[in-house]
Amino acid sequence: AHLDRIAEVDPDVHAFLHVDRDGALAQAADSDARRSRGEARGPLDGVPIAVKDVMATRGLPTTCGSKILEGWVPPYDATVVERLRVAGLPILGKTNMDEFAMGSSTEHSAYGPTHNPWDLDRIPGGSGGGSAAAVAAYEAPLAIGTDTGGSIRQPGAVTGTVGVKPTYGGVSRYGLVALANSLDQAGPVTRTVLDAAMLHDVIGGHDLRDSTSIKQEWPSFTEAATQGASGDLAGLKVGVITEMQGEGWQPGVMARFNESVELMVKAGAEVVEVSCPSFVHALAAYYLILPAEASSNLAKFDAMRYGLRVTPEGNPSAEDVMRATRDAGFGDEVKRRIILGTYALSSGYYDAYYGQAQKIRTLISRDFDAAFERVDVLVSPTAPTTAFRLGEKLDDPMAMYLNDLATIPANLAGVPGISVPNGLADEDQLPSGFQVLAPALADDRVYRVGAALE
Ligand code: GLN
Repeated sequence: AHLDRIAEVDPDVHAFLHVDRDGALAQAADSDARRSRGEARGPLDGVPIAVKDVMATRGLPTTCGSKILEGWVPPYDATVVERLRVAGLPILGKTNMDEFAMGSSTEHSAYGPTHNPWDLDRIPGGSGGGSAAAVAAYEAPLAIGTDTGGSIRQPGAVTGTVGVKPTYGGVSRYGLVALANSLDQAGPVTRTVLDAAMLHDVIGGHDLRDSTSIKQEWPSFTEAATQGASGDLAGLKVGVITEMQGEGWQPGVMARFNESVELMVKAGAEVVEVSCPSFVHALAAYYLILPAEASSNLAKFDAMRYGLRVTPEGNPSAEDVMRATRDAGFGDEVKRRIILGTYALSSGYYDAYYGQAQKIRTLISRDFDAAFERVDVLVSPTAPTTAFRLGEKLDDPMAMYLNDLATIPANLAGVPGISVPNGLADEDQLPSGFQVLAPALADDRVYRVGAALE
């Protein structure tokens, strides 16, 4: 049914870069056989899933939305993908994304944008717009996204889906093509909080192949979401982040946000306002740290090891081939960030930019620590606006970056966050999202509170 749905709507939505019809049907048949033998591998055995094209999938193309990886088929699975296969989830295909996960609209994909199923003239968010749109358009019940500065949560908000960024180290990054290693986390994109929790239970947990993977037993997120569904928030202390409201925040988004906060009070929560003064510098710090890490990560696309190779006429040197390949293979946003990152890291500027940004990062973590001494969770709108029109911010990188205002602090500090749909903004009848942030390792809390809000 999902493959039929993809055939029907994806020509308009363009959530997928690659659909693996035969593979998905074969995995579904295997799952049916297991079920009829009474050997299902868990509750999600047989439930199909879409995977963001930044995760390595054995035998399936993995482009990261870039021409430089066109035609590359990884010989191995990312740990997340391996765990999906082990749990019996048929993989429908790979979803569209901003090139190397750089963007907030999926317009930076080298393969054309994804369209928001709510209004095809609008963006589905980014970088994981393909995963969010696939779930919102009923092309897939579940999807995998990655969140470096908001790429799971912001697409969730603007497409009316649920998105979770786990605690840094909670889900293995092995086989996730790195954008910024210290910020990247894979996580669930779903239509309900319970679905997200069940998927997190499948993909999460320690992995020897990722040195930053946290070695501990995690509680059942399925159980946390199930408990939360009772809707009782008695005793919960909630902090509304002062810095994430006011000018620049769409009135309709703020109205839905304030309503959700009132609902929390009715459900028994105690709500206070909490200031996190360093958050106003988060965006600036992020756009130094991220390009710095990305510029180093992308150095491996040298025309020798992977994908595209452009050989100029005549008798080109290795450097000529490298330059021609990177020139043709990378899009403008990727080039912009490579330039920013190499500049920020170069000697003489390192202390002034990268060093300063790292200090801000520490201050942001301290703001979270101080806040979580007072409250159990912090809340904000997930994104300052609803989905904007395709093309609206494409020529204005700063306007595009500003969309990540509310999501970036969690990545800088490594804490978990969820975006839960909380209705439509009055002025445009488009979805808005409610963000719940919890202390590192307390992912169960975002599921419990998220499920209570549904
Ligand atoms: N929009 C942010 C950026 O462009 C977030 C990207 C992400 O989370 N992958 O960097």
